[in-house]
Amino acid sequence: MSTQPQPRLVEVRQNVLKQNDLLARNLRERFREAGVYVVSLVSSPGAGKTALLERMLTVLRQEGRAVAALVGDLATEADAARLARSLAPVRQITTGTVCHLEAAMVEHALEGWNLDELDLLFIENVGNLVCPSSYDLGEDLRLVMLSVTEGEDKPLKYPTIFNTADVAVITKTDLSVAVEFDAAAAHANIQRVRPGMRVFEVSAKTGEGVDELLRLLCSCSAESEKAVTG
Ligand code: MG
Ligand code: ZN
Repeated sequence: MSTQPQPRLVEVRQNVLKQNDLLARNLRERFREAGVYVVSLVSSPGAGKTALLERMLTVLRQEGRAVAALVGDLATEADAARLARSLAPVRQITTGTVCHLEAAMVEHALEGWNLDELDLLFIENVGNLVCPSSYDLGEDLRLVMLSVTEGEDKPLKYPTIFNTADVAVITKTDLSVAVEFDAAAAHANIQRVRPGMRVFEVSAKTGEGVDELLRLLCSCSAESEKAVTG
C-alpha cells in the first residue's frame, strides 16, 4: 500500500487555503475602508441560522440600520427568499458540491453592491461544523451556533470551529424544556473548548435574547467604525 498521493493532496489543500487567506485579507481591507462590519454565522445544518438571521435583519432594519446578507447553501435559493422578507438586500451563494463558503465566493457575490452604503453585512455559511473553520471570509466576527436540539456535547466533538469563532450562540431555547436541554453542561463544554468565550442564548421564534446579541454586534460595529475614523 502506497501512501504517496497524500503529500500531494496536502500541498494542494495548503495552496487553496493560502489563496483563500490572501483574498480574505483583501476583503477585510475593503470592508474596513467601506466602514461595514461583517458578521459570519456557522453551525450544523438545521441549527437555525436563517431563522435567527431573518429576525436580526428585521429588527436592525426597523432601527434604521443599513444591513444586508449573503447566504450560502449547496443548492436552492430558498434561504435568500426567506431572508428577503426582512426587506434587506440579500444574495444567495449556491456552492454546488462545495460544503463551505470561500472568500472568492463572497467577493463574487458582492459584485455590484455599494459597500459604502452598508453598516452591517451578515454572511451565513453552508451548514457544516467542519471545513468552514479553515476558510477566512474576511469577517470581523464569527458566530458559531448550537441549537438545544443538537445535544450539549457538540463543542467537544467539533472543537476547531468553536476555537475559530468569536462568540457562541445557543439557539431554539424555546424548545429547551421539551428536549431536556442541559444548559449548564453546554456552557461548561463551550468553556472547556474555548475558555472565556462569550455565549448568548436566543430564540428566533420568541425573540428572547436576540436584543442582547444585537447589542453586542452593534457595539462591535460602532467600535470598529471609531477605530477607522480615529
Ligand atoms: Mg440557512
Ligand atoms: Zn467544505
